[in-house]
Amino acid sequence: MIDNKINLLIVDDEEQFLSSIKKSLEVREFNVTAVNRGEKAIQVAREKPIDIALVDLKMPGIDGEETLKELKKEHKWMEIVILTGHGSVNSAVECTKSGAYKYLQKPCELDELLEALKDAYQKRVMNKNDIEDKKMNELLKISISNSPREILRRLQEIDRGE
Ligand SMILES: [Mg+2]
Repeated sequence: MIDNKINLLIVDDEEQFLSSIKKSLEVREFNVTAVNRGEKAIQVAREKPIDIALVDLKMPGIDGEETLKELKKEHKWMEIVILTGHGSVNSAVECTKSGAYKYLQKPCELDELLEALKDAYQKRVMNKNDIEDKKMNELLKISISNSPREILRRLQEIDRGE
């Protein structure tokens, strides 16, 4: 089934928050996958297409910052919004360095969250377009002299952000 919803992954260890935010976003333009551990978020992102992620910072196991780094490493064009109840200037700086799109603090108004998620999605669409443009340019450059296998290898590198 094709729909125009945004594939959103939410990871937060507070189950009550997780289920209420999932409900609020699912009635809007989001397809929500909600998990309560960083490990699960990384796994889910390998198994299905995720556009953007909303990530809690303090969780048992892999924390939000590690989850952010791992997601960005494996999915270059994914954009990630941090939502934490334990914010600090230091961690905001660290998360931004690690590639977080935005850093929000709980409690957060739904409107503010929606705006951040939609902006992150716009960025993700641009990332994907950039990659497609880069691929097309590269393809034109290398298609004259290289084997199909070599071309495929190069396109896969571009997908990984290399
Ligand atoms: Mg937490």
